[in-house]
Amino acid sequence: MMGKLDGGEEKLFYAFSLEDAVPQDHLLRRIDRFLDLSELRPFYSSIGRPSVDPELMVRMLLVGYCFGIRSERRLCEEVHLNLAYRWFCRLGLEDRVPDHSTFSKARHGRFREAGLFRSLFEATVRRCMADGLVGGEGFATDASLIHADASKNRSAWKGEAVDWEDPQIASRPVVEYLDALDDGPKVTEKKRVSLTDPAAQWTCAHGGPAHFAWATNYLVDVQASVIVDVEASPAVRPAEVAASRRMVDRTEERFGLKPKRLMGDKAYGSAEMLSWMVKEKGIEPHVALFAQPDRKKADGVGRGDFTYDPEEDAYTCPAGKKLKRFRREARAKKAKPPPDQVYRYYALKADCDACPLKPKCCPNLPMRKLPRSIHEDARDKVRELQRTEAYEVSQRDRKKVEMAFAHLEQNLGFRRLRLRGPTGAQDEFLLAAAVQNLRKLACRVA
Ligand code: SF4
Repeated sequence: MMGKLDGGEEKLFYAFSLEDAVPQDHLLRRIDRFLDLSELRPFYSSIGRPSVDPELMVRMLLVGYCFGIRSERRLCEEVHLNLAYRWFCRLGLEDRVPDHSTFSKARHGRFREAGLFRSLFEATVRRCMADGLVGGEGFATDASLIHADASKNRSAWKGEAVDWEDPQIASRPVVEYLDALDDGPKVTEKKRVSLTDPAAQWTCAHGGPAHFAWATNYLVDVQASVIVDVEASPAVRPAEVAASRRMVDRTEERFGLKPKRLMGDKAYGSAEMLSWMVKEKGIEPHVALFAQPDRKKADGVGRGDFTYDPEEDAYTCPAGKKLKRFRREARAKKAKPPPDQVYRYYALKADCDACPLKPKCCPNLPMRKLPRSIHEDARDKVRELQRTEAYEVSQRDRKKVEMAFAHLEQNLGFRRLRLRGPTGAQDEFLLAAAVQNLRKLACRVA
């Protein structure tokens, strides 16, 4: 016989335990085992408690990033209704969830200024190190674009005058943008600038329609794909490369980790970046090289046909003639470093005029000229590494950083920022990376 509803009569007492209600293998339970919030102690006010307990705020944010709940209003509602979320946030059944506006104020206020989110992220890295997940031998670096919270309808094209003092557009991200410039520009310098998040980059780098975006830069230890550092940067290649250098330096300073090899795609293969890795840091550059422009046609004489002799500092061409920077010692002594960091080697006009290869080598020039970066020796180091088995292994290991970005997008649903400005992007990327590390730790628990 079917049971009968009791007409909605309310019981006075219930025997209910939140602890028992949350399954033992729930993801939040497994994450909780690895969560170390002792770093939050300095964030407690010495005079009374802040409006939102830092630990409660961090736990709620972790729930949000872990389950792709991007809106603060929705996060507060979900924590109110979901028993597992309440358990993880240390809220009893009768405890009040903070109002989303208070929560928002605390998040953007002193917690941000005090670097709470970086402390939280670094605590996850330390935990991964303590559990033996970080080898420290090989790091992979890359950047991924994330849509900024900026509409193209609220933007100005290059050359359009923008009154940044206008109260309609003056906001925290605008103030951050102006502070980063020497004098607030009256005319926009970028191709297109957002009026809501002016530091975001207008880009179509992914091949789709152009949009405003930020880049999240990861430095990943390839042993277990742990993210050892993360940084927000404008979505342009030089800024991404600079962010990678800062991450390598910071990881060494904060955790004493310095990789033997650094993996990256050709964005990190500029001569200058390679020189920094090899000469300054003593790191093996397992990166793809930028293809150098080469005039070689199907039957022409290309750069690869010339051999460089470092002792003589000269190239030898296929006809056996020398290409040199200087022919006279006096000029060599007076020479200053080239402003564009490129040396130029010239053949003798007399040699080229008499050469049968001239129509294939330099048909429209009086003599052949070869440029060489002052950091070319670092490129040579990569060419040497490219012939080794270790380089092939690195090419496979490099995919781990791309997988971390795929996980960020597919599993955490992180495709668009909620916060604006460089600090907003940085906060969001730190929290997302912290969650990825915690999930990695949690997945190891059966
Ligand atoms: S044209 Fe000049 S540089 Fe080219 S192969 Fe002949 S001698 Fe050498």
